[in-house]
Amino acid sequence: MASYNLFLLPGDGIGPEVMTEVENILAWFSAQGIARFEIDRGLVGGCAYDAHGKAISEEHMARAMTADAVLFGAVGGPQWDKVPYDARPEAGLLRLRKDLGLFANLRPALCYPALADASSLKREVVEGLDILIVRELTGGVYFGEPKTITDLGNGQKRAIDTQVYDTYEIDRIARVAFDLARTRRKKVSSAEKRNVMKSGVLWHEVVTRIHQESYADVQLEHVLADNCAMQLVRWPKQFDVIVTDNLFGDVLSDVAAMLTGSLGMLPSASLGAPDGKTGRRKALYEPVHGSAPDIAGTGAANPIAMIASFGMALRYSFDLGDWADRIDQAIAIVLAKGVRTRDIAGDRPANASTTQMGAAILEELRAFA
Ligand code: NAD
Repeated sequence: MASYNLFLLPGDGIGPEVMTEVENILAWFSAQGIARFEIDRGLVGGCAYDAHGKAISEEHMARAMTADAVLFGAVGGPQWDKVPYDARPEAGLLRLRKDLGLFANLRPALCYPALADASSLKREVVEGLDILIVRELTGGVYFGEPKTITDLGNGQKRAIDTQVYDTYEIDRIARVAFDLARTRRKKVSSAEKRNVMKSGVLWHEVVTRIHQESYADVQLEHVLADNCAMQLVRWPKQFDVIVTDNLFGDVLSDVAAMLTGSLGMLPSASLGAPDGKTGRRKALYEPVHGSAPDIAGTGAANPIAMIASFGMALRYSFDLGDWADRIDQAIAIVLAKGVRTRDIAGDRPANASTTQMGAAILEELRAFA
């Protein structure tokens, strides 16, 4: 039986609540002999600050570096609003992304038929939607230098952010997108603004070359990022994989996310470069939502985003794609049966707590064994 080392960082607020539901599934996987997971747990975010004065300790960073995958809950909360900037809860996540070299952020937007009416778009536009946004995560305008605000001395200030991409950064994210498209419907849409940005010209050039050299079997289309936003709202099913830079990816993935309903439903994966020897990528899996302090401790949190993030870990880190599919199917069945936490209940009262939703999904998984 394959054995994997999984480092759990539940974090703050609802993070530990939704992580517990994944732990129940992990225990069942091990008991069934599907795979053995060596589980290690650590602190990140506000709870780590309370324990160590840092958003993540060096020891826990070192453990994250050696794990086969990191499962991350959520961080933050009002009680840590005034801690020093470098120790704020989010600094733990940023440190993990940076030190693990997680340059590729994968955000699926999947619309379960039972929830199609929860979208702000018409049912026929979103029902059956299954697209994947691949966002470059460690470069571009969020990190480029110079990044300054200068006092011009005449009552004016000047703010500068720098959008910068090197060939290798575009090359590696494009390969991730093409490789993923090969496992799906074999179409990549590359979004940039080459009409007004030099970084867009280089992006277009590099993606085109990688496609011609190595991925002729995948369909490639280029789309201007603003048009991509419009098309996502007009007819999102035209897309399969969208690859884009850090800034456009931030915006486009949020647009895509809202096509599908609640924040409590959205998983994500962040991947690093493949290891030269093993071919394995460093990886962190986390729900898109935050620590939801408004509902923490009430049992109202939807664990689906966290469970679906674990499903992504099965697919991308553990070669257990069949079980990742089964997790998606189990979620679809539970939703079709009408099980609803508060965030996806619409006008009706919720009929499931965090624990009940987790148990219902595990029950459906048992049926596949
Ligand atoms: P949030 O995602 O925590 O919550 C936004 C709204 O969505 C809230 O009403 C919340 O109750 C609801 N919600 C979120 N997840 C849910 C779930 N699983 N089930 C049901 N409802 C859910 O965003 P926020 O309120 O802007 O931020 C709260 C804290 O989380 C802040 O400290 C923020 O900095 C932090 N945050 C952390 C991350 C992260 O850890 N990656 C991401 C975003 C925000």
